[in-house]
Amino acid sequence: MLNGVRVPPVAHPVPHPLAHNGAVPPIPCPCGTGLPLVDCCGRALSGTAPAATAEALMRSRFTAFAEGDADYLLRSWHPDTRPRRVELDPDQRWVRLEVLGRTGGGLLHAEGTVEFRAHYLEGAGQGVLHENSRFTRSDGNWVYWGTVR
Ligand SMILES: [Zn+2]
Repeated sequence: MLNGVRVPPVAHPVPHPLAHNGAVPPIPCPCGTGLPLVDCCGRALSGTAPAATAEALMRSRFTAFAEGDADYLLRSWHPDTRPRRVELDPDQRWVRLEVLGRTGGGLLHAEGTVEFRAHYLEGAGQGVLHENSRFTRSDGNWVYWGTVR
């Protein structure tokens, strides 16, 4: 009772996320590999392990868009083409990534391209960004260069 207002009892209390042996169910990585975020793009975003391939870097940048990590987007951009800042639109929710094709971008390559479709929701609508991106290395690590023309 609060000031005469009856508070109905909660029929099915929602268990606290930490209720099960202290383990939180892993968040799936937004990039769609099926791996938990911490074992997938989360390693690149946190700086634990740089992306090993151009495609892995591309996936980690999609995840950075999905997670709103503007710092990572700048860090993973080549210094020669990087904008001064990245403005993320809070109304745009990046929900799904499709990798359509790739060239180079492997462990022994210095360059690569990845063509992808990135799907987003915005307000009541949805959209898709289709891009063929070029990746190169900076200090040995994969970075985004820009769109292939
Ligand atoms: Zn991922």
